[in-house]
Amino acid sequence: MTDTPRYSLAGRIVFISGASSGLGAHFARLFAAAGAAVVIGARRVAQVEALAAEIEAGGGRALAVSLDVTDEASLVAAFDSAEAHLGVPDVVVANAGVVREGRSTHVPADDLRTVVDTNFTGLYLTAREGAKRMIAAGSRDSEAGRIILMGSVTAEMTQQGDAAYGALKAGVAHLGRQFAREWIRAGINVNTVQPGYIATEINGGWFATEGGKAQVASWPRRRMTEISALDDMMLFFASDASRQVTGTTISIDDGQSL
Ligand code: NAD
Repeated sequence: MTDTPRYSLAGRIVFISGASSGLGAHFARLFAAAGAAVVIGARRVAQVEALAAEIEAGGGRALAVSLDVTDEASLVAAFDSAEAHLGVPDVVVANAGVVREGRSTHVPADDLRTVVDTNFTGLYLTAREGAKRMIAAGSRDSEAGRIILMGSVTAEMTQQGDAAYGALKAGVAHLGRQFAREWIRAGINVNTVQPGYIATEINGGWFATEGGKAQVASWPRRRMTEISALDDMMLFFASDASRQVTGTTISIDDGQSL
């Protein structure tokens, strides 16, 4: 028997994009509690600064950075800042995401570009920037490199209103496999987590509307996914426990996609 926590992240540095709310903010608290120093990036700097102060007040280590994943220079600067203040991140959670609802016959081109730029190109560049630096810092020997991509249950289903979002999330899962193959000998594992519908800013007030309630009623368990349902899998993918797990995609959706 040992009293070492199975998913200890002591000594690890975790970079999270889109950490000003929802899942990203939740993961920041989760990883900090597991012993990691967390780099929390978002456009809403005041919110990540408040979160960093909360984590530090609780005895953790956190650095707030300004980050817009659609702006390559901003991404590079955020990683530079992480490196300068804490060190090269061992774990990158590419989490920032947006939704633009609308029937495909009427989607404005600008909305489409925003969704592609954030959910695909931004996620890609977040992973790229992290992997490049992990490799330069010796991930091949440490085998501690971890990249977690935030996919979505929408990759597994079709519905009306967010065609590009769902298609891009399906692309994210395959991108994860591509990255995993490319970086497999560089000591970096890449895995994709596909959450079910969780009440956060991204879905706004939708699930309180009649349409939203009808959608919940259509799922086998007739309920939202709880944010904490992701915790163990996130800790697993970030830690040594997943040393031989790469290129996988897991849905944690309480069966919503069944
Ligand atoms: P959220 O809106 O609370 O969080 C998304 C975060 O990304 C926000 O803080 C937002 O400001 C940030 N962001 C958006 N564009 C950005 C940019 N250009 N640069 C930096 N940050 C940016 O929603 P969430 O539910 O926490 O979403 C987190 C991730 O989980 C997203 O990738 C989303 O697609 C995915 N997801 C969410 C659900 C759900 O039901 N909540 C389900 C499946 C997948």
